[in-house]
Amino acid sequence: MSQATLEAITEDLHRSRSATLLPALEAGLNTEQIQAFSHDDGPCLVLAGAGSGKTTVLTRRVARLLARGTDPQRIFVATFTKKAAEEMGSRLAALLGEGGEAIVEKMWIGTFHSHCLRILKFEWAHLFGKAGYFQLADENWQIRVAKAILGDKDWMARGLPSPPFGLNVAYDPKGALSAVSAVKNRGFQVEEAEAAFRAHEPLWADPSIQILAKFWRCYEQAKQAKFDILAKKPSRRLDFDDLLIEALKLLQEQPAIRQKYQQFFQYLCIDETQDTSSVQWEIARLLSAAHSNIFIVGDVGQAVYGFRGCSPEATVGQFGAAYPSGTVIRLPTNYRSTATIVRVANELIECSGIDAKYRLEMASVHPEGEPLSQHEHEHADAEALFVAESLKQIQETGAALRDCVVLFRTNAYSRALEEAFVKNGVPYVLQGAMGFYARREVRDLVAFLQLSVERDSPAADEAVKRVLNVPSKSFGKPTHFLGGAFIAALETQAALKNQSLYKTLATGQFKTWQGLAAKDFRDMVRDIALAGDSAEARLRKARDMGYDDWLLREEGHVEDEGNSRLDNLEELCTAAAAFPTPLDFVAFVAAQNKPIGEEEAGDAVEMMTIHRAKGLEWPVVFVVGFAFGMLPHHRSLRWLDEEKTQLAGDSIEEERRLAYVAITRAKERVYLSWPLQHQTRALTRSPFLKEMPSLPEMEAAPLGTVSKEASS
Ligand code: ATP
Ligand code: MG
Repeated sequence: MSQATLEAITEDLHRSRSATLLPALEAGLNTEQIQAFSHDDGPCLVLAGAGSGKTTVLTRRVARLLARGTDPQRIFVATFTKKAAEEMGSRLAALLGEGGEAIVEKMWIGTFHSHCLRILKFEWAHLFGKAGYFQLADENWQIRVAKAILGDKDWMARGLPSPPFGLNVAYDPKGALSAVSAVKNRGFQVEEAEAAFRAHEPLWADPSIQILAKFWRCYEQAKQAKFDILAKKPSRRLDFDDLLIEALKLLQEQPAIRQKYQQFFQYLCIDETQDTSSVQWEIARLLSAAHSNIFIVGDVGQAVYGFRGCSPEATVGQFGAAYPSGTVIRLPTNYRSTATIVRVANELIECSGIDAKYRLEMASVHPEGEPLSQHEHEHADAEALFVAESLKQIQETGAALRDCVVLFRTNAYSRALEEAFVKNGVPYVLQGAMGFYARREVRDLVAFLQLSVERDSPAADEAVKRVLNVPSKSFGKPTHFLGGAFIAALETQAALKNQSLYKTLATGQFKTWQGLAAKDFRDMVRDIALAGDSAEARLRKARDMGYDDWLLREEGHVEDEGNSRLDNLEELCTAAAAFPTPLDFVAFVAAQNKPIGEEEAGDAVEMMTIHRAKGLEWPVVFVVGFAFGMLPHHRSLRWLDEEKTQLAGDSIEEERRLAYVAITRAKERVYLSWPLQHQTRALTRSPFLKEMPSLPEMEAAPLGTVSKEASS
């Protein structure tokens, strides 16, 4: 078939497709949505509250462009997560009908990171040949390098020389990496940042800033190792931030490449634009420079990634500056939630004082619905039980659990919920995190507890294997790292003698230093056992003996989105406190450790952090931990005085937006619940409750379960 015939057939296809598709794509959209949907060329910003159809309009507009014959390869769509990209791809394929999947496959739908990776791989190979090869510096690699750079206190304690770059500070590799990442995401390179720090004397006088700058330089050097001798190839590494930074540099510095992509991409579309970083925004602006067909949708009220260097002004504000005559469309109507939920959400986000030019109050199309309810509990276990029982009741009415979600601020909060769900037979799927009792640090401590009560069983053997080298360098006192080969030898000797690993540690034939290290380990287990008759006391002893310090050094203090592994340990101690003996608790944990996988769960309730729920929706939403200390989270708060009486107003802004994201995930029903005590911390009601006058006042200090329903 000649090229001309092929093109003619393709055109015919497009014509017939668009004749039937276009009216279908437009069906049901309101006036403003149609305006956005049919926006042709030129820059366009769609600003609208939650659930107003931003993602819907963006998806349908892309389908419209395709139906009109735009080459799928020439449409660039950036979503916030890989999952969102997959969902948009399958929605598009469904909208396009027959052959839709093949079309979607050709498109650029993905995160900025995945698009940049694709561009860099291709262009660097062409520009630099073999020297353009690079590997991703994944998290494991980053942490390994960060530890080497920061130096290792334990290393020195054992009389070993300081590692090559050793800065010899008490280190927190994740903390250093994420500080560097936040600055990089604001578009600074190390030299620029250092110059900026130097220019600000009080800042530069701060040793931790100087150490960070030094750390950053060393880290960048480590990624530049030119040749991997073993692999016999160039081995440059790029971390996730570098993917964006290097792609931007490429576009800025190579006019031919820049022009090629500018000509190539006819249309750019960005979802969740309020959380694109300034580097991402710059990439998008450059890529769209030839046609200026940039279509971005977002809600300033849902910006929740400030810690990654994203700020709504970076995109929404800059849009106006970059395209003074660009089209701005506001979608006024929320289609997701009942009028009752929309009213309360409006009240909450109104308190953010976001400039009216950035956001509109949402109207609702749905009638009033079930009132939002508030449930106060004495402690988190009671709250979890309430959620489990409510889910059971919902199930009894014939509704599906998959229509429900439980949202929390940080993953440590899942512990009580998981226990209550297991106990009450509520199938659940935890998204984005391991089940609580499967988390590494939780399993480590439970292994120590196991050995403190019982040492001669298969379970005890597993515990020995798990924690003999944990912490890997020193624990309490400078001890020896026995390593994996030792465990193999230990197992062989134990099998020969037909005895437990623990016993073999005392009686086996080892080198002197190994014997000493084994004794250290046994002493530690003994000390933990002597800490008291309660599981909690023993767990706390293990933590005090150095586990917490080790974990901080290995894993850092706080991860993205405010999750912390130490919170998990505190949660574990809280759980243990409810059991009469360590043995009871060990047995309980063994029974918990069968999280229900997604496939086997069938109909199950989902659980996840609020961050993860962005863009998604469910008929029923439980927002748990709606308390001061959890939402807003205590770690996000900045106090103006040492006594912690005055809160810096802006420190709860992002937390309020999180609360708004959480509430607006619901189509029909919202349950707000909180405990008055979480772990060892006393909590009070979230100040956000007061910001929603449509929720009724609750009595002053109720105990137990108090439920109040908002009158609508
Ligand atoms: P978020 O801010 O949470 O990302 P969004 O603005 O992207 O939300 P969508 O997810 O696109 O909103 O839409 C929310 C819900 O409203 C979806 O269930 C969608 O199908 C529905 N919806 C959007 N527009 C309409 C419409 N015109 N008629 C009926 N339903 C609609
Ligand atoms: Mg959306």
